[in-house]
Amino acid sequence: MNAGTRKMTLVSLSVSLLASGALACKMVGRENRASSPGAEPSVVDPGGIGLFPSDAMLLFYGRDLSQWRNADHWTVKDGAATVGVGYGGITTRRAFGDCQLHLEWATPADVEGTGQERGNSGVYLQEHYEIQVLDSYQNKTYPNGMAGAVYGQYAPLVNASRKPGEWQSYDIIFEGPRFNPQGKLLKPAFVTVLFNGVLVQNHVEIKGDTGADPPSYTPHAAKMPLHLQDHGCPVRYRNIWIREL
Ligand code: MG
Repeated sequence: MNAGTRKMTLVSLSVSLLASGALACKMVGRENRASSPGAEPSVVDPGGIGLFPSDAMLLFYGRDLSQWRNADHWTVKDGAATVGVGYGGITTRRAFGDCQLHLEWATPADVEGTGQERGNSGVYLQEHYEIQVLDSYQNKTYPNGMAGAVYGQYAPLVNASRKPGEWQSYDIIFEGPRFNPQGKLLKPAFVTVLFNGVLVQNHVEIKGDTGADPPSYTPHAAKMPLHLQDHGCPVRYRNIWIREL
């Protein structure tokens, strides 16, 4: 066997070993160590793009707002629910603790107003902690009042806003606060927010009610409803689901 033939043979051997997975398995052999004890994770069908996981609770999926209180003046059309301007926000009938929340929203395509008066709404976790909804596309306002902000506390890490009228998404992981029976704060709330798939809040510690200045905690139950704000703008919502953690 001359040098050229030997080289060819080694190359073809390597290719066939890789194809069989033999080399690939050896390369990741360290992951074959005994698994740590613990409960077997339950099986969840993640759903397709734009769908929802099999263990999610649907809070609004285009038909009606029966899961919500004070929704009589909100309109449902073309799979979206629009803020009933002047009639107040809507609040879930159920209460939630720690959770993963997905929702989509769109501010009006016809731009009106500036700053906080343009496409303002909000996602209130446990009715106390607002993740701001705002048309932040080429619309200056104070940073901790922008879309993706923990209102009044944390500006988003980046401005991942789409144009007004376009659908945008929030994926929120929320750990609620803990209070003792006397109402003393034992552990603050934490939140992580992805805005259009982009990380904008990375496990930040919520300082208290976002409506308070300065923020401070008001003791409340471990489980509280979710609230969507009426801030005078006809913001639309769709595809709202939640997983309790
Ligand atoms: Mg708001």
